[in-house]
Amino acid sequence: MISKASAQPSPGADTSGDSYLPHHGNGGYRVRHYDLELDYKIGPNRLSASAAITAEATQALSRFTLDFGEFRINRVLVNGKPAKYTRRAHKLNVKPAKSLAAGSEFRVEVYYVGNPRPLPGLWGDIGWDELTDGSLVASQPVGAPSWFPCNDHPADKATYRVALTTSSPYLVAVTGNLVSRLSRASTTRWVFERLEPTPTYLMSVQIGRYDDVELVSGPEPGWLSPPSVTAYRISLDGDAVLASVPQRAAVPPRLRRAFSRDFGRQGKIMDSLQRLFGPYPFDEYVIVVTDDDLDDPIEAQGMSIFGANHVDGRRTHERLVVHELAHQWFGNSLTVADWRHIWLNEGFATYAEWLWSEESGGQTAHAWAKTWHARMKAKPADLRLADPGVSRMFDERVYKRGGLLLHALRCLVGDAVFFPLVKAWAVENRHGLVTTAAFVTLAERFAGRSLSSFFDAWLHAPALPPLPTLP
Ligand SMILES: [Zn+2]
Repeated sequence: MISKASAQPSPGADTSGDSYLPHHGNGGYRVRHYDLELDYKIGPNRLSASAAITAEATQALSRFTLDFGEFRINRVLVNGKPAKYTRRAHKLNVKPAKSLAAGSEFRVEVYYVGNPRPLPGLWGDIGWDELTDGSLVASQPVGAPSWFPCNDHPADKATYRVALTTSSPYLVAVTGNLVSRLSRASTTRWVFERLEPTPTYLMSVQIGRYDDVELVSGPEPGWLSPPSVTAYRISLDGDAVLASVPQRAAVPPRLRRAFSRDFGRQGKIMDSLQRLFGPYPFDEYVIVVTDDDLDDPIEAQGMSIFGANHVDGRRTHERLVVHELAHQWFGNSLTVADWRHIWLNEGFATYAEWLWSEESGGQTAHAWAKTWHARMKAKPADLRLADPGVSRMFDERVYKRGGLLLHALRCLVGDAVFFPLVKAWAVENRHGLVTTAAFVTLAERFAGRSLSSFFDAWLHAPALPPLPTLP
């Protein structure tokens, strides 16, 4: 288990310095914007593409690296001039014709073609994957290079424009606001813009024979609503804003009936989470239900993806509907600065499930906490929440012990401190990077006292602390 603190990458290094996934992400530059032009043939799973990356050199660079999967590269340009490049494993090494000065902005263009396929890793194959009839992208944590060259670390958030051309009968949903859709002969070109800072793993492409279902309407009818370029529509007090967020879904026709029951409370869940966590961080929310089964639902930026098996017409999986929506705040808007802090994503998303249960007349959050505390107590006490180790990033104990920590904190400080704290956490760090230490600092600020013994027990000790009683 690696547990060293994240280090600053050295100039031009092919490491992010991440304490868990140092080989994803690169040093020496920060990406500002990705402009992807994708031409995709569904049957043969063939992608012809170009990526134009605008970045800033954080030091003088004679070379730099990008994370990239197995494509045939036709050419690489830096600032419009052909650059030398080599590949090793999943790194594309680029040597510009002219070295880049520290602080300078530069533009890299990569032209490539191939069959996108998920990348193997500790969590199975992740990234761009074929469906029975279409495609999906589910990249957490390291699948993004399966479809575009990138600086694959969550701390390097950027904006995006993604244009995708494919066969016309298919609905295309990319994480972003749809800004144009143009059909020509048998193909349609869809263009999306993602204006909020977004980590590579949360970018996603969904292609399928889906119906477009409107759940909560936006300012304009239909899938093609105009881009409301208000990426930072923030109210810092967080209380005044309870805007109705446009919410829509891409659903296989055969599942529409069951979907409308299972997601019937989506609008209410959105309202509830906005009350708890402050304004929803994006312009819209898109739900995709694939026609294939998926192991787990997955979050993307302004989007969640569910499998056909998560829809049964009986709301069996409503907790997952809540969980994925909660990630729009915790994970997507507030992004971990290092993968070691993953409990900040999963603990909050888990606790949101329990809070919704309580609010919607189901079991109380305290009852859920008691249930899960008993179950976690029966598991090995060999995981430290603040540093679970790379192989246990997605261990169930990270999720449930994270939820339990939040409930125990609520019991300790009381609702009058806990709920404003949670909202301030989401609002003050909106579209930023977060660490466990920053959460502890904010919690102590709200509590007005040191909580070090509480956090030592819950974050750093392998034993599961006892669950406090309700105040
Ligand atoms: Zn999750």
